[in-house]
Amino acid sequence: MKTIIEPFRVFAVYPIRMTSREDRERAIRDAGYNVFRIAARDVIVDLLTDSGTGAMSSEQWAAVMRGDESYAGSESFTRFEAAVRDIYGFRHVIPTHQGRAAERILFQTVCRPGDLVPNNTHFDTTRANVEHAGAEAIDLPPIESRELGVPRPFKGNMDVDALEALLEERRGHVPLVMLTVTNNSGGGQPVSMANIRSVSNICREHGIPLYIDACRFAENAWFIRNHEEGFAQKPYIDIAREMFSYADGCTMSAKKDGLANIGGFLATNDGRLARQELDLLILTEGFPTYGGMAGRDLEAIAVGLYEVLEPDYLEYRMASTRYLGRHIADHGVPIVEPPGGHAIYIDAAAFCPQIPPRELPGISLTVELYREAGIRGVEIGTVMFGSEEPGRPSTAPHELVRLALPRRTYTQSHVDYVVEAILAVFARREEMRGYRIVEAPKTLRHFTARFESL
Ligand SMILES: *Cc1c(COP(=O)(O)O)cnc(C)c1O
Repeated sequence: MKTIIEPFRVFAVYPIRMTSREDRERAIRDAGYNVFRIAARDVIVDLLTDSGTGAMSSEQWAAVMRGDESYAGSESFTRFEAAVRDIYGFRHVIPTHQGRAAERILFQTVCRPGDLVPNNTHFDTTRANVEHAGAEAIDLPPIESRELGVPRPFKGNMDVDALEALLEERRGHVPLVMLTVTNNSGGGQPVSMANIRSVSNICREHGIPLYIDACRFAENAWFIRNHEEGFAQKPYIDIAREMFSYADGCTMSAKKDGLANIGGFLATNDGRLARQELDLLILTEGFPTYGGMAGRDLEAIAVGLYEVLEPDYLEYRMASTRYLGRHIADHGVPIVEPPGGHAIYIDAAAFCPQIPPRELPGISLTVELYREAGIRGVEIGTVMFGSEEPGRPSTAPHELVRLALPRRTYTQSHVDYVVEAILAVFARREEMRGYRIVEAPKTLRHFTARFESL
């Protein structure tokens, strides 16, 4: 069969409240034209994030009922730890309430002021935690990733020449190297096995540990199996195991490819480091056999980590992202090519070129998508990465709008609805106008800023 269907039946439903254009006009105005300030009940299709917003399976809900809520030595932790060790292969597994807690513990343990942490592209919380530990976060994306509209495989790779040069130049000041799979801030683009291997070899030559930011490891494994030579016959779980075999540890948000609504972990092969990390864990997260999660969360993740590697699930997951991307791009909507794993990124600067970056084209597009059909995307551009502080760039390198697909949550007709809305806005793109910030905090301003149209 050519038709790829959702490989599940619906077993509980959450109603969507249909709104009128007038309802939405009022909601977006009251929200200061910032979609983060809109109540979820006023949203029809919510593509704000794929983090923690997916649907759990019947097996996960069954596992939830088995949750052992013992403070110490919970059986749920034993099952969680066994799943993580089996798939990721690291010896020490440290549970955390979500990915950023794992990052905070890792960087606080290994980074000293003046250190550098290279990454293909840091996710925003990763960058913030590196900087909070007094170190500098350096992105080393490949040159071809700058050409947003040009489809090339593995645009999420790290530039290995740049890494080697940096390690030579700053010898002794790089406590670890990180690889983010898939590369979230870089358009959800994958990293090839060859690139993971090269980065690992360079790290080993320099005696520097390599960590994987593993949030979307299963989606990355799909790209390796389907787009890299030599993997077509390999089961996804073995591809995942090979990816991690080149690393010394990882951070993970189970809200992504853990198929859970909350949770995460830090893992490492270094026993001495793990002991220091556990001290920090106990101080701020919890005892080492729950780390800020309930026993039932540990159970849901232990099941989710296997379900996310099922071939039917991954085929459907990638088909739905690609379907959204192709159906808008084939009608001329400029997107980051090729479609990434979890999201489609519209190039807002090219969508409405009459709006210059300082007039926030990404905000204009998120507002229009909400007005048109109650769709919530997120600006990844000047509001998120620009700054009014002296010495920092005022605009971002790209003006993107991300439409992230929650896992196992929306069906093809929801995606068709989104496609229709985007094409309707695209047809009247010349009428779109810019916005300006009327009120914003100094840091992470995208969450709470208010705007007005120009
Ligand atoms: C979501 C995410 C994180 C942080 O995880 P949280 O669970 O949101 O704290 C880190 N890195 C990447 C690549 C992510 O997508």
